[in-house]
Amino acid sequence: MAPISKETDFLVIGGGSGGLGAARAASARYGTKAMVIEGKRLGGTCVNVGDGPLRLDDKAQARRYIHRLNGIYERNLNNDKVEYVHGWAKVISRNQVEVTLDDGTKTVVNAKKILIAVGGNPTIPPQIPGSELGTNSDGFFDIDKLPKKVALVGAGYIAVEFAGMFNALGVETHLFIRHNTFLRHFDPMIQEGVSNEYERLGVKLHRRSEATKVEKDEATGKLTVHYKKGDSEGSVSDVDHLIWAVGRTPATEGLGLETAGVKVNEKGYVVVDDYQNTNVDNIYALGDVTGRVELTPVAIAAGRKLAARLFGPEQFKTAKLDYGNIPSVVFAHPEVGSIGLTEPEAVEKYGRENLKIYKTNFTAMYYAMMDPDQKGPTAYKLICAGPEEKVVGLHIMGLGSGEMLQGFGVAVKMGATKADFDSCVAIHPTSAEELVTLR
Ligand code: NDP
Repeated sequence: MAPISKETDFLVIGGGSGGLGAARAASARYGTKAMVIEGKRLGGTCVNVGDGPLRLDDKAQARRYIHRLNGIYERNLNNDKVEYVHGWAKVISRNQVEVTLDDGTKTVVNAKKILIAVGGNPTIPPQIPGSELGTNSDGFFDIDKLPKKVALVGAGYIAVEFAGMFNALGVETHLFIRHNTFLRHFDPMIQEGVSNEYERLGVKLHRRSEATKVEKDEATGKLTVHYKKGDSEGSVSDVDHLIWAVGRTPATEGLGLETAGVKVNEKGYVVVDDYQNTNVDNIYALGDVTGRVELTPVAIAAGRKLAARLFGPEQFKTAKLDYGNIPSVVFAHPEVGSIGLTEPEAVEKYGRENLKIYKTNFTAMYYAMMDPDQKGPTAYKLICAGPEEKVVGLHIMGLGSGEMLQGFGVAVKMGATKADFDSCVAIHPTSAEELVTLR
């Protein structure tokens, strides 16, 4: 293996989606000498312990798939002439990074620009006694046998996706949420629709409940999760796996940010401006480590924009990712998708009197021949603002929402109005056609 370079133009710490996107664009598109330092496997959370493997139900097949992806990522770096170093990086100044290789040797690399793209790790709440007996979304992939009973704590993407999946597989699924609904960043229609549907499907949804203690029966290995709900207390025993899905913590430990003077906020996220600049010249950050819209495609897009701005031609000198109107889907049962403002956000921004809300709920034709208890809900909402009825929020729940949202996302991003939606002839018979025929 070639020795590590001592000089580079662009040193990227973290070989996840954002870091790879930035390094490859810098090198392949703009001819910049770039280096990626990664201590684990290439691809980051999404590829190794996230959406990629989650969509596969055969574990061995999933591992082979991930391994293949790791190889593809390495070859892509090679093809794009990015130097890939397996090791751990520590920032020692605005232009220097100390790299510890797998054999323990340390090398100082001088870099004209440094990008921090180290992502985050799932949080396990340390203050709850016995919390370490539970696992998280990384550990989920080590579960080899279908459990009988699981408990999940959390109210975001992961808790909701995992709970839906376990329940669909016939596992007794307990989901503990602190408030009355989950997915509270989504429109109330989605929060209430999916929370109610989960209960209907048999998920044991513990609303307004907080886990307080976890115990393990050493003889059986089973867990008991204690919780409190208002003034009362309860517990769920015989739990095979407890999964914490309460968000992520930025992976900045040991990175040397204090030494380099890089500012982090009270939650430990690296503080950046709209252009991914940190407070230190030549040091940039993007992706989950900045805590802003923690989604793989967002990190990739931010990485490419940054590479264009730093190393591209003049026309990209002000390039930055527009963090507004980012579409997002939760692969719940049923899928939900959202772009733009929720109704409460729109009311706050525009005032109720300046909004027109269009809503529908119906039974998708897919279910037409099924028994009533097999029929899932479908509900759509368009939030339109001003006299021109610009679509400022679009929220969908139902089969196929994941595939539907991308196209509608383009329309919303382009500033479409309700009249634009209506001017598009419906595709019949689909569910999506309801969005262009709302009254
Ligand atoms: P999220 O940030 O989405 O949600 C975590 C939620 O858990 C919080 O919003 C909070 O909701 C609740 N919570 C926080 N602390 C506690 C606590 N101590 N006890 C109980 N509940 C708590 O995190 P996830 O872990 O679900 O997902 C991590 C990231 O992974 C997400 O940011 C997401 O971007 C990404 N992801 C995206 C997917 C997709 O795009 N489909 C799929 C999977 C992951 P509340 O305030 O309501 O209690």
